[in-house]
Amino acid sequence: MAHSDYIIVGGGIMGAMMALELAESGSGSVILLEKSFPGAGSTGKSGAILRQHYSHKVTIGMARESLHWYSEFEQRYGTDIAFHRPGMAFICTAADRANLVRNVELQVSMGVETSVLDATQLRDLEPSGQFADDECAAWEPEAGNVHPVRTVYAVIEAARRAGAEIRIGTRVTGFVREGDRVLGVTLDDGSTLQSQMVIVAAGPWAGQLLEEAGVTLPLTALRPEQSFFDPPAHAAESRLIYGDLTNGLYWKPELAGWTRVGLLDMNVDAVVDDPDHYDQGVSQKFIESCRSRLSLRLPHYAQSASWGGMGALYTVTPDSHPLIGPVPGLEGMWIVSGFSGHGFKLSPSVARGVAAQIGTGDPCHFDPAFFAPDRFTRNAPIEVAYGYGILG
Ligand SMILES: Cc1cc2nc3c(=O)[nH]c(=O)nc-3n(C[C@H](O)[C@H](O)[C@H](O)COP(=O)(O)OP(=O)(O)OC[C@H]3O[C@@H](n4cnc5c(N)ncnc54)[C@H](O)[C@@H]3O)c2cc1C
Repeated sequence: MAHSDYIIVGGGIMGAMMALELAESGSGSVILLEKSFPGAGSTGKSGAILRQHYSHKVTIGMARESLHWYSEFEQRYGTDIAFHRPGMAFICTAADRANLVRNVELQVSMGVETSVLDATQLRDLEPSGQFADDECAAWEPEAGNVHPVRTVYAVIEAARRAGAEIRIGTRVTGFVREGDRVLGVTLDDGSTLQSQMVIVAAGPWAGQLLEEAGVTLPLTALRPEQSFFDPPAHAAESRLIYGDLTNGLYWKPELAGWTRVGLLDMNVDAVVDDPDHYDQGVSQKFIESCRSRLSLRLPHYAQSASWGGMGALYTVTPDSHPLIGPVPGLEGMWIVSGFSGHGFKLSPSVARGVAAQIGTGDPCHFDPAFFAPDRFTRNAPIEVAYGYGILG
């Protein structure tokens, strides 16, 4: 049986980052197995917004580290991943003001450049925008984004150059077990691979895959929709990234010049039983809902052409934070999934934390208990400031 120190299941941004980190840190031999193509799950359709506005020091620190990492990627690895910093504003009404101010203070205490803007300052930032007098925003000029597909391919290529073996088009169908010890994986061609550690980074497929190992974890695949609009040429828009708690949506400029719009409420997203066969289209109802909400803020979108949209996949947990750690009841297997619509920005830092715990032996920069997969059975979910869990 072929053997490696680490087997990573999944070639999304998490699997890719962990392959790179484990290979670069000299932690041992790494094989990454991807059943379809890099980015075939959530990653390829991600907004890939990189912001640091979070409710906890842990996630602020991870977002901060990762933003810096992405900003240096091209210089370090020689590939353009379309890193930009348009800046991001989180708008809310008086109801969320105290939470927003608290989050901003927490970020500032950690060195993030951010401030609270009142409605007048918001109007200066976005002169064509409509803002009520009681609204305010957290403004984060450092916030940026990358191109998700370019990025995952570039990270996988960097991992390959660092020595990781990458097998695209290889599906893991099950696990080789000896009692509670996982010894490796079985593949769709009937062969097996042995390893001291199997890391499941299978995104929306992770829950099903763990069932193969007899483990049930609270991971649910959802189908969010996204819509795209062509901003009218006459509109004088600042082209920033926005999270709009008042109207329940977020939007961002895409490289192609469109504006991507999504909703903040994951409760409206349908549960997906089979992520291999889900509706990848978008409904007209969703497009019109986005248009009318966005037009409340930026009226010129009432006259914009819609360029359609897409159905995508999130992997969510009950507290909208990932499961990162050993799979309860099994030895030799980790789960790194459940990023609940906000994982892209955290992935470099996640990978460093995982490698510290299972590879390098360095101290981990976050408390492993924070994201531990058994936190729900310990009744220790992660609490967040806002009603929208996706905001973290
Ligand atoms: C529409 C949308 C917008 C988003 N916007 C943002 C954002 O702005 N900022 C942000 O930070 N995050 C965002 N996210 C979230 C972020 O994209 C995800 O958290 C992240 O991409 C998850 O990566 P992953 O590697 O865990 O999973 P995935 O990308 O889903 O990767 C899992 C991979 O595993 C493979 N796989 C599954 N089963 C097997 C198997 N049995 N054998 C081999 N391979 C297998 C799949 O083919 C897939 O490629 C967004 C997500 C979506 C869907």
